[in-house]
Amino acid sequence: MKKRFITIAVDGGAASGKSSTSRALAEKFGLLHVDTGAHYRTLALSLLRRGIDSVEKFAGAEDPFADLALGTCVRGNEARMSISGSVPDDSEIRNDAVNSVVSQFAAIPQVRKFLFDYQRGQVAVARDNNFAGLVMEGRDIGSNILPDADLRIFLTADAAARQRRRAAEGIPDSIAARDKLDSSRKTAPLTQAAGAIVIDSTFLDLSQVVEKISEMIREKLAAEGE
Ligand code: C5P
Repeated sequence: MKKRFITIAVDGGAASGKSSTSRALAEKFGLLHVDTGAHYRTLALSLLRRGIDSVEKFAGAEDPFADLALGTCVRGNEARMSISGSVPDDSEIRNDAVNSVVSQFAAIPQVRKFLFDYQRGQVAVARDNNFAGLVMEGRDIGSNILPDADLRIFLTADAAARQRRRAAEGIPDSIAARDKLDSSRKTAPLTQAAGAIVIDSTFLDLSQVVEKISEMIREKLAAEGE
């Protein structure tokens, strides 16, 4: 029997542990890891490079996405989004300049629409590259992008724990401001999808969170084999 292809949506606020958890699950189960936050960051960087540094400038631009062709570069278990053929380095998309505009751009319906098909299309990328499935992280994956995902996880952690994690990574971030914008926007806000399983990681370390989800994955895979 052909092995089952499994899809996992991991949503949560900034610094809730989505990336480390998703990366670890991808390694463990041979899944493709797709970080949709990086998509919004990469797009924000391209807009900034075009001199579009505010929602007003975006609204005033004739065609803000002109010539921005999206592609995917698979490196190990990671799917990285390229724009017009190049994948920016992490340092280019994880800095103050991008942090301060990304959530404002992400609230624009046109921006979300621009990424929607691309993000859904990552399931086909995972299949075409013979992965055992896909783990996609973001804010609206379980609610909007992959509402039929086999597992929908919503990660939470209290604000102080999240701030401490970012500080320990040495990455400057305005997590409270981004969470506020992400939760209050009209289009596809950060929300707990119906049927999502909530994991509060305030008092759990990474390996404990990964083990909890691994158990759920094994159950799904075992149920399929029956
Ligand atoms: O996950 P990360 O914190 O890198 O995401 C950066 C920003 O991208 C978020 O603050 C949010 O504004 C936006 N985002 C989103 N929807 C997603 C993923 C990220 O709006 N699915």
